[in-house]
Amino acid sequence: TVTAKDVAQANDYFEHFLNATSLKNILGYYRSICEHLNLKPNHFPLFYPKLKSYLTSWRAKALWKKFDARAVHKCYGKGKLCTSSRVLIIGAGPCGLRTAIEAQLLGAKVVVVEKRDRLSRHNVLHLWPFVIEDLRALGAKKFFGKFCAGAIDHISIRQLQCILLKVVLLLGVEVHTEVSFERLVEPDPIEKTGWKAEFKPSTHPVSQFEFDVVIGADGKRNTLQGFKRKEFRGKLAIAITANFINKRTEAEARVEEISGVAFIFNQKFFKELYEATGIDLENIVYYKDETHYFVMTAKKPSLIEKGVIKQDLADTERLLSLENVNREALMDYAIEAANFSTHYQMPDLEFAVNHYGQPDVAMFDFTSMYAAENASKVLERNGDKLLMILVGDSLLEPFWPTGSGCARGFLSSLDAAWAIRSWCSGTMTPLDVLAERESIYRLLGQTTPDNLNKEWKSYTLEPATRYPNLNKNMVMPLQTVGLFDSDDPKSVEKLRRNSLDVAPVEVPKKRRRGNVDNEVLLSWIGEQDGKVLCAILNHYRPDLVDYGAVKGEGPAKMNQLAIDIFEREIGISPIMTGEEITTTSDYLAMATYLTQVYDSFRCEIP
Ligand code: FAD
Repeated sequence: TVTAKDVAQANDYFEHFLNATSLKNILGYYRSICEHLNLKPNHFPLFYPKLKSYLTSWRAKALWKKFDARAVHKCYGKGKLCTSSRVLIIGAGPCGLRTAIEAQLLGAKVVVVEKRDRLSRHNVLHLWPFVIEDLRALGAKKFFGKFCAGAIDHISIRQLQCILLKVVLLLGVEVHTEVSFERLVEPDPIEKTGWKAEFKPSTHPVSQFEFDVVIGADGKRNTLQGFKRKEFRGKLAIAITANFINKRTEAEARVEEISGVAFIFNQKFFKELYEATGIDLENIVYYKDETHYFVMTAKKPSLIEKGVIKQDLADTERLLSLENVNREALMDYAIEAANFSTHYQMPDLEFAVNHYGQPDVAMFDFTSMYAAENASKVLERNGDKLLMILVGDSLLEPFWPTGSGCARGFLSSLDAAWAIRSWCSGTMTPLDVLAERESIYRLLGQTTPDNLNKEWKSYTLEPATRYPNLNKNMVMPLQTVGLFDSDDPKSVEKLRRNSLDVAPVEVPKKRRRGNVDNEVLLSWIGEQDGKVLCAILNHYRPDLVDYGAVKGEGPAKMNQLAIDIFEREIGISPIMTGEEITTTSDYLAMATYLTQVYDSFRCEIP
């Protein structure tokens, strides 16, 4: 039982939770809230409504309003679409956490493991407009009042993780820190256990967790085995990041930021910098955030000239190895570049301290960048299927100075959640799910803020709301057979045979194969008194049409009503009026229209 005193205490802890800025405190206050309310992280519909009923401060209510607005969206099916799914997420970086939110809203049981014990990355991420909108809608400002105020479009990695972690916890996701994923453990037919994983420490209770979806969100290194990576080898690119303490003085407040886009082509500036200091850069970005954050791409000869790199070695790994870098010289190099590019307006730059208690300056090699060849795979052992999906840096490594990492990462998180949704739908085969995921992945590397849909507020899991040029059938199910790894050859063969059929497997064969005469089809549609389109709508989206109220209307009117709703709510442009449909002999036009209707609903669960 929960007493009034418990509730009051939980509300107190909640205020601390909202203000907490360290991993330990966030998790500590959360645990106290849960203990007082007798709650345990659980499926969304079993956790969130209870938590919400107890925490009633105005700050809490403001957050619930945000979460409720999100959770009612049709793509989550009232948090019940994926209740049979259990999702393991490896890594609590921004993309792992962002995926956890979506999987939780879909109703899955979600567990996140994170190997670190602190959120300590000062480095600052550039946020594309849709990411800002997305985070606002998740209540970012309620946790961090300064979030993207005014023209600011960036955030420190640690602050972003803090915000997302709090959202994840309040929705009921289970999070374990200081737990490192090691490898998958195959189902055991004797013990009758499903897919599990091995962790460090090996005795951690999470090793008993059985799951049917695993998300690799552990960053560039990607510990989830089985994904091939392709390398993009460019010319030598050495990036330096540096964080200086923001003492928030008036002088610091006056210094202008340097956005990458503005400076990347400014040759005059780089020439002057080189002449004045001997520092030779290809670009530099400066964001004033919790720290003064600089990221620059430096040319190797100047690093050698300035004594940062001790010895010129052909192998980049050895070139930038600890033994070959003079840290003092690197610090001087970063300070000089920072000072020159901000016109010496911050004379007392002092390094912030990094994870290891050292001045926060680092050098990274971007000569080789990696992307996973595929975004998804399915493993099957002893009849147990496991959907594996990569997101964020594990999927596609970003080049930091251009600041695409977080945005493309978030897109991949939403896409991964869409794949989980398809996986749970029961209407798609594993190859259908893989084909759809791979089709969408083909777009990711080309996305920019300009070629994404500009209606950021309308973004959902549904990829069509985000990618205007989406073709979900770019990769056909048959092409993904290689991504389905099974110990049962019959299972692969069955899927292969199914994919040879064009239509989805749930449609009975005789309907798919029947040779319906065009005229028969059209006259059948005409004879339905306009009910067909409304009936389809009513079947898949009963929330959009009051079928009982309209079914007495004439055919032209009912058709028109459906056409209008399809256009407004689903985005299908009309090709004829409701009246025209009742008499049309244009089979092709009608088929085109119905194909779009079919495509919109083929993954939908009524
Ligand atoms: P990450 O943010 O890398 O998160 C992965 C998480 O997984 C980490 O918390 C890690 O501890 C955890 N993890 C790893 N292995 C395991 C395991 N086996 N088990 C459990 N947990 C595990 N981008 C920029 O645009 N500008 C920058 O200046 C910049 N600096 C960066 C500095 C560092 C040190 C790193 C690692 C990344 C940086 N990035 C930067 C990249 C940026 O952080 C990512 O693009 C963004 O955070 C999205 O990444 P993610 O969630 O996919 O992965």
